[in-house]
Amino acid sequence: MAADKYTVLISEEEIEKRVKQLGEQLSSEYAGKKILLICTLKGAVIFASDLARSIKAPCELGFVKAKSYAGEQTTGSVDISFEDLPDIKGRHIIIAEDIIDTGLTLKKLSEYFLAKEPASMKICALLDKPSRRKADITADYIGFKIEDHFVVGYGLDHNERFRNLPFIAKLEL
Ligand code: 5GP
Repeated sequence: MAADKYTVLISEEEIEKRVKQLGEQLSSEYAGKKILLICTLKGAVIFASDLARSIKAPCELGFVKAKSYAGEQTTGSVDISFEDLPDIKGRHIIIAEDIIDTGLTLKKLSEYFLAKEPASMKICALLDKPSRRKADITADYIGFKIEDHFVVGYGLDHNERFRNLPFIAKLEL
């Protein structure tokens, strides 16, 4: 399978502008509160890093590892490891996710976090593919809604490639 051809879907400038807007929105909505921003590894690492830097409210970082894709196919099961997470109880948590596809990952993550009794929990996803949804889940903050394409770049991979592209691209499979 040739996996080298891609076309830019969302430019670096568009991403930068939108992430700043999300940061400003979160800064005003969380004014006076301390955020625990939970980054889902590995796909959201670049998004969460940029988002954290555009949030003015105090912001602690946490990480979870979630894996549901092999190549460009969802496996249908979600493998999550929760090591080294700070205490969730009573905290204002925001889950930073790269992309919502079937929604199964976020469903599992949000159930896990809600059971830990946070003061509040919101989901902030850079990308949303609503046409592929299987689980009943919606993000509170969304960067961009996209069609059903397999996308790479800005943290998103195809077999660990393309994460370092500064834009979001549609992979020609
Ligand atoms: P879900 O559980 O919502 O089906 O899948 C979420 C995860 O699947 C994302 O965090 C991401 O890792 C992966 N994923 C879903 N769609 C895409 C895509 O178009 N490109 C890439 N690279 N990963 C995707």
